[in-house]
Amino acid sequence: MTGVLSPRSLNRLLDGLDPEQRAAASAPRGPVCVLAGAGTGKTRTITHRIAHLVRSGHVSAGQVLAVTFTTRAAGEMRTRLRGLGVEAAQALTFHAAARRQLRYFWPRVVGDRPWELLENKLRFVGQAANRARLGTEVEVLRDLASEIEWAKASLISPDDYPAVTARAQRDIPAPAAQVAEVYRTYEELKNAAQVLDFDDLLLHTTAVLEEHGVVAEEFRDRYRCFVVDEYQDVTPLQQRLLDAWLGGRDDLTVVGDANQTIYSFGGASPRPLLEFTRRYPDATVVRLERDYRSTPEVVSLANRVIGAARGRPAGSRLKLIGQRPSGPEPRFAEFDDEAVEAEAVARRVRELLDGGVAASEIAILYRVNAQSEAYESALAEAGIPYLVRGGERFFNRTEVRQAMSALRTASGDVSSDLVTTVRSVLARVGLTESPPAGGAAKERWDALLAIVELAEELAATVSDADLPRFCAELDQRAAAQHPPTVEGVTLASLHAAKGLEWDAVFLVGLAEGTMPILHAGDDEAAIEEERRLFYVGVTRAREHLWLSWALARTPGGRRNRRRSRFLYGLIPEDHPAARVARSQQKPSAPIKTRCRVCGGPLLETLEVKLGRCGRCPSTVDEDLLERLKSWRADRARELKVPAFVVFTDATLMAIAEQRPADEAALVSISGIGATKLERFGAEILKVVRASASA
Ligand code: ATP
Ligand code: MG
Repeated sequence: MTGVLSPRSLNRLLDGLDPEQRAAASAPRGPVCVLAGAGTGKTRTITHRIAHLVRSGHVSAGQVLAVTFTTRAAGEMRTRLRGLGVEAAQALTFHAAARRQLRYFWPRVVGDRPWELLENKLRFVGQAANRARLGTEVEVLRDLASEIEWAKASLISPDDYPAVTARAQRDIPAPAAQVAEVYRTYEELKNAAQVLDFDDLLLHTTAVLEEHGVVAEEFRDRYRCFVVDEYQDVTPLQQRLLDAWLGGRDDLTVVGDANQTIYSFGGASPRPLLEFTRRYPDATVVRLERDYRSTPEVVSLANRVIGAARGRPAGSRLKLIGQRPSGPEPRFAEFDDEAVEAEAVARRVRELLDGGVAASEIAILYRVNAQSEAYESALAEAGIPYLVRGGERFFNRTEVRQAMSALRTASGDVSSDLVTTVRSVLARVGLTESPPAGGAAKERWDALLAIVELAEELAATVSDADLPRFCAELDQRAAAQHPPTVEGVTLASLHAAKGLEWDAVFLVGLAEGTMPILHAGDDEAAIEEERRLFYVGVTRAREHLWLSWALARTPGGRRNRRRSRFLYGLIPEDHPAARVARSQQKPSAPIKTRCRVCGGPLLETLEVKLGRCGRCPSTVDEDLLERLKSWRADRARELKVPAFVVFTDATLMAIAEQRPADEAALVSISGIGATKLERFGAEILKVVRASASA
């Protein structure tokens, strides 16, 4: 079936492509770069390009190697290639490709010393952390393990680690010298045990190709054409491997979307994508704008989400143009707590199923895997089959299993009420009062807290519920959530959803602290990565898109959460959620990030400074502003400095709007820190008082 086609049949092969996609698919051998937004047919274009190259006789299918980022995406690519009659072309993840190649090269390069793949590095990291006198709690180890992964993916050795992280001002889990020591010891222990971790697969394969000419020659004779999907998330290590594969040749097709870069934290960078033409000046470059995946309603929302991004690199500011017929408007929904949110989602899923949407065409996407429990439980209760992707099922998680066994053995203890007892038992397996920093630690903490919430729920519904009763309840839930399913609603993290699509997508838990994730803090780069992750979520939907959040974690809990800042400007003004969210803003929320007029989130620096958003009316006291300006002019003259050094216009404006009555009110204005307060505080307050009594 893989024979060479006549020009006419070859043309027909490209029938399902638009002119730009066709240009990329039929470009002659050599470098090709497709830079385009979500749903524009990048993956479709590369599969057609492979088929076209093969069936026009340029390469044989077996000489093609296509790489992508997830096993599922690779599987899907193989299916599409089979559909185009080129089943012999390989479509793999970087890791799977490297693993295969290493298995093949190893005996020739290293000999018959066997190697095993290390699935979980925590044991060695634990021993290394112990030697470096660092904590060995699971969360510490997980953070150290991710840091080692980042360093390896970024091609940074233990020796270079301290200098590189200092230069990059990287937020690191422990002092750099200690992390470097853990990293070094980890490598030694691992090598002594003759095991390789996932990054070693890439490192060793690269080294073999770089250092063994004969092997490299054989490899390059075998593989002649390379294709990389999702190239915006390539790490320096993957790029190095790719270069080793190419060995100076340029038969490379890459496709990607800088707006979907979501693995920067793991060392990935969109630079190789954006700088592709610098490296290959003769490359065919194609940009696609037509979105074939989603309805215009979804596309419009997606454009607004990414339009609000800051610092987008040139070349990534394309707007998507929806090609599909119009569909339903995206739904926004606010709930009192997470359980109610999950129940509402399950109800809506049921409606869609009844309306003829297949379960496999529905996905519920969340930021962290620990969020899955509420949805697993709500779907199980509603009798809806589901599959958890890219993460463990809640009751399979290590900390959840530990917690359950701790609860079981503590069953005799009945001295206090259920929730207090559960809390104190879980404290022994790592539940702290407030959430820890660090992604892995926070996820573990969330999972433990979810158990406390189940206890709260039980206590609220069954007045004399005790610990044994609670354990029975947990067992029951675990059993209900475990039946194997083949076809079901997909539950997945946003990271795992990359490249995929569904008719209906539910983006849930869109509250500050979850989306963006708490540990992004106020680091702008981290916030922007969260925004891109949200964008990836929105663009997974073909037709039905649901966006929801809850104000409290638990039923009856404090409704002190705010909806995600990314929803700002997306919710239609006449939508009840827009009004509800506004009237429920708590005055106790930090003043710096909320508009004092409407309560909405503040996004721009100037907005933060003024304490109100650009759209709300100014309440500036003109007389006071004049007095402040003349005071500032005097002071600046006296100190022989430009006026803005004393205070910027924005700060004066903020003072004139907020009329602070005392020092506390004054320091809450952004731009007035301890030094300025000490130097000018008393004077400013005097000017404010003088204006008030004038
Ligand atoms: P992502 O950035 O999310 O990975 P993508 O650019 O790779 O998206 P694809 O998955 O290739 O997009 O395509 C999105 C959807 O649009 C798919 O269902 C695909 O079959 C369809 N599609 C792409 N191009 C066309 C076209 N020319 N005509 C009809 N449908 C198309
Ligand atoms: Mg794709």
